[in-house]
Amino acid sequence: MRETAAMEDLQAALKDRNLTVSTVEDKGRCLLATRDFYPGDVIISQESYVCVPNNSSVETRCDGCFATSKLKKCSGCQVVWYCGSTCQREEWKLHRLECEVLSRQEKNKRTSVTPSIRLMVKLYIRRKLQSEKVIPSTATDNYNLVEALVAHMSDINEEQLLLYAQMANLVSLILQWPEINIKEITENFSKFACNAHTICDSELRPLGTGLYPVISIINHSCLPNSVLVFEGRSAVVRAVQHISKGSEVLISYIETAGSTMTRQKPLKEQYLFTCSCPRCVKVGQSDDIRESAILEGYRCKNEKCCGFLIRTNDGKGLQCQECGLVRDMEEIKLIATEVKSLSEDKASKLHTTGNYQEAVAVYKIIEKFQSKLCHPFSISLMQTREKLLKLLMELEHWREALAYCKLTLPVYQRVYPAVHPLLGLQYYTCGKLEWYLGDTEGAVKSLTRAVDILRITHGTNTPFMKELLMKLEEARAEASYQQSSKDK
Ligand SMILES: [Zn+2]
Ligand SMILES: [Zn+2]
Ligand SMILES: [Zn+2]
Ligand SMILES: [Zn+2]
Repeated sequence: MRETAAMEDLQAALKDRNLTVSTVEDKGRCLLATRDFYPGDVIISQESYVCVPNNSSVETRCDGCFATSKLKKCSGCQVVWYCGSTCQREEWKLHRLECEVLSRQEKNKRTSVTPSIRLMVKLYIRRKLQSEKVIPSTATDNYNLVEALVAHMSDINEEQLLLYAQMANLVSLILQWPEINIKEITENFSKFACNAHTICDSELRPLGTGLYPVISIINHSCLPNSVLVFEGRSAVVRAVQHISKGSEVLISYIETAGSTMTRQKPLKEQYLFTCSCPRCVKVGQSDDIRESAILEGYRCKNEKCCGFLIRTNDGKGLQCQECGLVRDMEEIKLIATEVKSLSEDKASKLHTTGNYQEAVAVYKIIEKFQSKLCHPFSISLMQTREKLLKLLMELEHWREALAYCKLTLPVYQRVYPAVHPLLGLQYYTCGKLEWYLGDTEGAVKSLTRAVDILRITHGTNTPFMKELLMKLEEARAEASYQQSSKDK
């Protein structure tokens, strides 16, 4: 009864935003548009029901705004950090109870409370405070919406279930509420696994985890018509394509660059469903085989040929589908093993221990090998170049960084749709580097492309976008000044 009423309230609130929740066979709930939405339109935005920063021994963030500077520990529990009194005051309603329960724990136990445990503790505290009306509830902000989320309990393996049960026990030990139901907490951990969102900054770097129960109604597509971006802690969904009245709003839960098999793996393992989007239904068709061979396969023996390779009937080689040349399987395996040992044993260790200079040297060797091994549009080659770009920027080797950035762009253009945040961000990086290096004309071009994409995915109101727009303005002014001095 209570749930039906909550659902009606939600439908009424969504109606004002030209949205409705519907149920589809096999897919469960879905969010439909009741008017046309156009690229850049905000479809829905929501504050988190609960969220926590991804704090660890190496990184701490403010619990209120996720900032990293000027942090002070809460003097009560000594676990949570704040950037100042504003954030601390805003969080106090919920943290007051959390602070109390955390403070009861022994000090060494307290500091080992992981973000996911904290998220669950906060979930129960918020639920309690809302039921006691200490914190108000609204149609889009209440525990019934969390109750309505799918848990997929029957699809979870034994091992995972045991882990969730242990975590639930820990939550119950922390809260020490007599009425608490461990089975329900276990189920809620399972809900977190397939419904919680990673909160990212504007450049898509992860900051924390949050639960947004209305946003969770939106289903996945590997070719989505909308995108989810965070502004601070609020989740904002914008249309990236025209969504006509009556169609379903779809976002992507995963990194969409990859073959159908690569995309389906995390969808099955984490989200427990088989995707049947327009890209995935092509699995096994010639288009799909070709795409996989390009994105994750090997290159032709002839360096000038861009054909893709398919295994020969005897299994001993891979044949180019363009020119017919065959590459020996043993030769490929040899290089692949070399690349694997270099990247797994050497490069990533150097990278994580901060030896950037040496990491660059190793990644450059890997890049050479991969250029011989992989198709020019290969994703792993692109990822190596991306790592080199990041490391070289860290080392302030701008010119070399720009060269790698430019090598990644054609792959980005190929693997992502025309309006995709990662493509926009890559143009932005390219434009910034060109600007530092005095290539004003190049900077204007790249920054314009970045703005064209990111104004749709990110809007124009955030500090991040304002900075980008200002940079473009500056670059344009400089370019026209240079032009006018040339004309004289
Ligand atoms: Zn703060
Ligand atoms: Zn505290
Ligand atoms: Zn799909
Ligand atoms: Zn060829």
